[in-house]
Amino acid sequence: PKEKINILLLENISDAAVAEFKEAGYINTRKVAGALSEEELIREVKDAHLLGIRSKTQITAKVLAAAKKLQAIGCFCIGTNQVDLKSATDLGVAVFNAPYSNTRSVAELVIGLSIMLIRRIPDKNAAAHKGSWMKEATGSYELRGKTLGIVGYGNIGSQVSVLAEAMGMNVIYYDVETKLPMGNATQVRTLKDLFSQSDIISLHVPSNKSTANMINKQTLKHAKKGAIFLNYARGEVVELDDLREALEKGQLAGAAIDVFPVEPEKNGAAFSTPLQGLPNVILTPHIGGSTEEAQHNIGLDVSSKMLNYLEKGASFGSHTIPALSVPPIENTHRILHIHKNVPGVLSEINSALSSKNINILGQYLKTNDQIGYVVLDVDSKLSQEAFALLKEVNHTIKTRMLY
Ligand code: NAD
Repeated sequence: PKEKINILLLENISDAAVAEFKEAGYINTRKVAGALSEEELIREVKDAHLLGIRSKTQITAKVLAAAKKLQAIGCFCIGTNQVDLKSATDLGVAVFNAPYSNTRSVAELVIGLSIMLIRRIPDKNAAAHKGSWMKEATGSYELRGKTLGIVGYGNIGSQVSVLAEAMGMNVIYYDVETKLPMGNATQVRTLKDLFSQSDIISLHVPSNKSTANMINKQTLKHAKKGAIFLNYARGEVVELDDLREALEKGQLAGAAIDVFPVEPEKNGAAFSTPLQGLPNVILTPHIGGSTEEAQHNIGLDVSSKMLNYLEKGASFGSHTIPALSVPPIENTHRILHIHKNVPGVLSEINSALSSKNINILGQYLKTNDQIGYVVLDVDSKLSQEAFALLKEVNHTIKTRMLY
């Protein structure tokens, strides 16, 4: 029964998510404004079946151990670093997030900033604030007809591509994979080709070994004189002293940077970067994806993943238990079984069910290194006795009867 399910949502998660849970009939959905300390969490999670957090709540092994009823954690944000994923995996707790809900927010801002920089608005704005009139056309351009070079043609890069073409730009991109172009965009073979042909260069690669400091003296020297550079991806990708030098020399005419190798943890904290004080440079505090719409979309995305898991056993998008898509439940009874990934578990489950004369109509299995997750559709509702047999199967981590 839905009223027996407790949902705890921390850190002011979007009302869109709260509404989704309530509309689905989960009246015991509780929203808490801030993050909780480890002790507070240990107290509060005891009865929770679903837990929603954002980036400030740390879900440690101790918190997970106290959360005896917990089925899933929803990280209503982009990353999952704040959760001890290893412990969550060992305990069979699904962990979901919303990796792509802010794609459009980043893409729009990149276009807006490109216009600001190519028109030298930061300089003119600073002059006007200081009481100086700086009316001139020299060094100011339209985006139309210019070439945008996108480094990393994934979710965000390809969206930027579409918006840029709508502005009348030519788009080229560099990616380690062969990517299907949007519109008239074309893939170039090397980073050097991209730098030497682009009027504006925008980074949209992940942070990993292959991208660490990938933008440095060696790459920047290939930029067209007066090109514009944007990094709304990850701070580790750019060698900032080299970027500063390229801006000071005039190799680059402007830049917009949102992400830094070291970022302050708290709002209002001191922040410093070699890029401070340079003309025509826009610095923003990692807000590329921070919009009301993105928060709303994150709310809808994560709550639907959590509800699908709770009600159907669908674990698609989970970072801990294996990600499994399942068919709708039609005139069957569904059981979920999470176990250590060792040989023999499935046959033990099957014999437990057949010993109680229960017929398996559908069986969906997915495993990862540590655990196996099987969804079983059976012909009749399990008695408490039959369900107890499943719990006793060797290497069982968690099991749940849906209908
Ligand atoms: P994605 O995984 O969809 O796309 C990344 C692309 O980069 C892929 O096409 C991949 O093949 C390519 N790539 C990987 N390594 C490469 C390399 N060495 N050289 C060239 N291409 C390479 O990711 P996404 O969702 O588009 O996000 C892109 C970046 O934006 C990520 O770093 C993400 O963390 C960052 N991001 C920042 C903000 C912000 O607030 N500023 C918001 C959202 C995402």
